Amino acid sequence: MKTLADDIVETMEVQCLSICSVTEMARLVGEPVPNVAAAFTALGEAKRAIVVRRGKGKGTLYLASNNHPELVCCNCHREYTRGKKSKAVACSQSCANSFSWKKPGAAARRIAAISAQRQTPQGKANSIARNKKRWSDPEQHARLIAANKRAWANPVTKALRAAAIRNAHSTPEKRALYSEMRKRHWADPEKRKKMIAGIKRSKGSPEARAKFSKLLKDRWADPVMRKKYLAAVRRNARDPKLREANKLRMRKLWQDPEFFKMRTPGARSAASKRGYETRRKNAEQRT
Ligand SMILES: [Zn+2]
Repeated sequence: MKTLADDIVETMEVQCLSICSVTEMARLVGEPVPNVAAAFTALGEAKRAIVVRRGKGKGTLYLASNNHPELVCCNCHREYTRGKKSKAVACSQSCANSFSWKKPGAAARRIAAISAQRQTPQGKANSIARNKKRWSDPEQHARLIAANKRAWANPVTKALRAAAIRNAHSTPEKRALYSEMRKRHWADPEKRKKMIAGIKRSKGSPEARAKFSKLLKDRWADPVMRKKYLAAVRRNARDPKLREANKLRMRKLWQDPEFFKMRTPGARSAASKRGYETRRKNAEQRT
């Protein structure tokens, strides 16, 4: 079957064209410009013709016959000149660098080498120093924040990043580390105060409360989840160890004078002040 690329090569030969722009070729073969541009790139990659880029910015793509007299950069496809003894296949050092990354397997190999280097103690220290420097510069800081926001707004990037973060942080070592860290933080009165304030701020807003309330109601309305929840509730209610732990936890909670103040107005009116006092006294007597 004759493809668009075949058609283009044939047109170049029949019309004796030495060089032809995308738009001109699109007109000659009667195909949309994007299709012709894609066919040009494919022909260049298959080395069936030379692709040339001319003009400012992105420029215009041309297809040149194989006896094109000029040198064409392997990376940007712009025409360039080189010294008599030079064997450069790219127009500039940056194009040579960029092209070297496009060689099959090269990118994967280099990324592996770089990340191995970054994992060494010296590499880690360098990364931290570099990042600190970047973050302390207000201009760079603002730029980084904007770039981050842009990236996270893209649903595909967001999903990929979230998965990467989840994978990186869910190893047994990391989980143990975080668990230990949380316990340490909760034991520190200053940190504890800060964390409680933070939680109240983020979870205590009317919007957040409405959101979680709806989430929970929806879960309970879902027959599958409901079955699961009920089974768990029954299982826990029968577990002597859990029952004992829960009893002690509740007793401690009721003994805490702050507990009543911490409760929401709704919960407070549900368990009236007097009820609270009674429960607190009862709890005290039991210890
Ligand atoms: Zn170039």
